[in-house]
Amino acid sequence: MAFFLFQLGSPQQGIDLARHAATHWASRNQQGPEAKARAHYAWLLLELGSSEEAIEEAAQALKLAELANDTRILSLATNVLGVVFWMSRQLDRAMELCARATDLAREVGDSIYECWWMINLGCVWAEVGHFALDSGDTAAARGPFLKAVEITDRAYRLAIANDDPWAERLCLGNNADYYTGMGDTISAAECLTKYAKVKGHNYTRGMEQYYYTLGQALVAEGRYPQAIENLKEAILLANLTGNIETLLQANNFLSKAYEKQGCYQEALEAHKEYHQLALHLAAERAQHKARLAEIHYETRKLRNLAASETQRAEQFAASFRILEEKAAQLTEAALVDPLTNLCNRRHLDMILTSYRDDIQRPFVLAMIDVDHFKRINDTFTHVVGDKVLAEIGRLLRRHIRSTDTAARFGGEEFLLVFDNAELADACNSCERLRRVILERNWDEIEPGLQVSVSIGLADGRAAGSPFLAIEAADRNLYTAKRLGRNQVIPSQG
Ligand code: GH3
Ligand code: MG
Ligand code: MG
Repeated sequence: MAFFLFQLGSPQQGIDLARHAATHWASRNQQGPEAKARAHYAWLLLELGSSEEAIEEAAQALKLAELANDTRILSLATNVLGVVFWMSRQLDRAMELCARATDLAREVGDSIYECWWMINLGCVWAEVGHFALDSGDTAAARGPFLKAVEITDRAYRLAIANDDPWAERLCLGNNADYYTGMGDTISAAECLTKYAKVKGHNYTRGMEQYYYTLGQALVAEGRYPQAIENLKEAILLANLTGNIETLLQANNFLSKAYEKQGCYQEALEAHKEYHQLALHLAAERAQHKARLAEIHYETRKLRNLAASETQRAEQFAASFRILEEKAAQLTEAALVDPLTNLCNRRHLDMILTSYRDDIQRPFVLAMIDVDHFKRINDTFTHVVGDKVLAEIGRLLRRHIRSTDTAARFGGEEFLLVFDNAELADACNSCERLRRVILERNWDEIEPGLQVSVSIGLADGRAAGSPFLAIEAADRNLYTAKRLGRNQVIPSQG
């Protein structure tokens, strides 16, 4: 209700409601709604002329919104603080905050807020233009006014999409003001024509803006009697709404219009009014400067805090990734034989157990033993022996299918598990492997080195279980050794 009253141009009535809402939510310890109420309260206070209290409330609203971690309300509070800085003519900070508020609104997908905050961002840019105009630099004013128009045009399109006539009127009125500032009275008039056609009620605040902007445009066009009429209307309404900024500028333009008409007494009256209001505002702004600097520092602190929280979260994620990697390494270490990179006994047992539990799955086991390996060690050293084992590991991995398993059973013994295989096929594979190992150029590793293997096979299902199959394969391996090594012996039935 407080905000509706603000939109309708009765901030005095809205202000009590907003304060009431803030106290209500504070007593219930509801930070989000309290932040929202305080932000509106601050905004209403500002509308009635920037005050100490508005600054405090806006800062408090921002803090609460950050605490509540509510991005939508944070966008509102950030915007209000932006308006606080704008009213205090700290335009770079106002710009930063209004832009941030717009981004936050977009982030949560609130296009109404996005549109409103964008309108304020446009206002801040226009303020830069007005500054330049006031100091007589029309050329320097053009850039900021163009930027303001561009931003406001974007807000205007959003307002239409949102079906938000209040914002539509604001955009058109503001752009009329900015075009006037650039001396483009034709575009300003176009905006005002559109303005008059926007559907919905004409709120006091909207009308006030309309008369003020029209009056200003008419002064620029040199149509002074009409300008005076409209500006007086604007001042009447601004006295009702308590909008001190309109009051100030309307008196300024009114004074100019009277002066051009040769009505010097009236010009002087309007100028006195303008001067008094300007003094009042300047005094207030000067008073608030220190506190504003402090708030800026505090908001920076909050932002830094948020940044350090993000950093902490990132560090946490990084250490989590390291832990995950370590866990993966440990898992690997638990399952992989480091010398040969094949499955170790533990892993092999897990795989064999899965075959035991799935009796439908046909498989063949092959037990491989390096021939006279002791002699290799003794002749060429253990280091060479290790290289031989590692190389056999590599050859085994390369010559089996991805569904098969190669494991280091122990010492210089390996076990192959041929998945979903018939004994004859596995036997052929083993025969190929035996030849591959025998024919490998072992001289490369050590001159004079020769390696052969003996292999015993057993059909898993015929043996009855994987562990009985191991025994059968081992028996066949022993037969292969006895028959002269370097050969493959399958189960005989
Ligand atoms: P056979 O043809 O009858 O299998 O003769 P062998 O010499 O290969 O058999 P034996 O079981 O007598 O010797 C195996 C040797 O393997 C004994 C052991 O020192 C060696 N050995 C076991 N593990 C490793 C290892 O990790 N590295 C090295 N270099 N040698 C190993
Ligand atoms: Mg052995
Ligand atoms: Mg051996």
